[in-house]
Amino acid sequence: MIALRNRTRRMLVMNLEHEVFCAAGTCACTPVWVVVTDQSPSGVRAQRAIEKEACASLTLLPRELRSGVSERVLGCREVKAALRAGRLEVLADTRPSSQSVTTEKEAAS
Ligand SMILES: [Zn+2]
Repeated sequence: MIALRNRTRRMLVMNLEHEVFCAAGTCACTPVWVVVTDQSPSGVRAQRAIEKEACASLTLLPRELRSGVSERVLGCREVKAALRAGRLEVLADTRPSSQSVTTEKEAAS
C-alpha cells in the first residue's frame, strides 16, 4: 500500500484502466449500459443496449493526501502522467493495513 498526494489546487481524477489495474487483482470496473444505434445492410436502424465495463477511477480532492492506495495504480497511464507532470506525489503509507482502502469502489464493497 502507498499514499498519494494531490499537489495541485484542483481535483485530480485518474482512470484506472482495466488492463493494468484489474489485471493483478479483482476487477474493479463497474458495468454500465450504453445504447448504440445499428444500421443493418438493408438500411434498417435499430437501437440496442450493450453492457460495457467502466473502469474504476481515483479521485483526489485539491491537496488531498490519500493513504491505503494499492500500488497497482502506479501502472495506470493517467496516474503515471500525473506523476510525470508533478501533479501527484507518492508517499509511504504509514497507516495500519487493516484500515486500508484502495478505490472508492473497493471501499464500498
Ligand atoms: Zn476491470
